[in-house]
Amino acid sequence: MQPTESARRQLAAATFLMSEHQPAGRSLCTCGRLLPCTVALASTRAHEHNSTVLALLHATTELPMVPAR
Ligand SMILES: [Zn+2]
Repeated sequence: MQPTESARRQLAAATFLMSEHQPAGRSLCTCGRLLPCTVALASTRAHEHNSTVLALLHATTELPMVPAR
């Protein structure tokens, strides 16, 4: 699997998890855990990480030439 594809899949998985784990009140996650929900925190971190990975991969593979001013 290409690194980009791997990061895209992990990003999609993290996005799905985040949608399943939202604050559902003052102290509960939608999954029933007390906040802060560890799954929500982990999926948020995974989302940020893979977003960064994708940005870096795109920066090196799809935007090779940026005109300097
Ligand atoms: Zn949760």
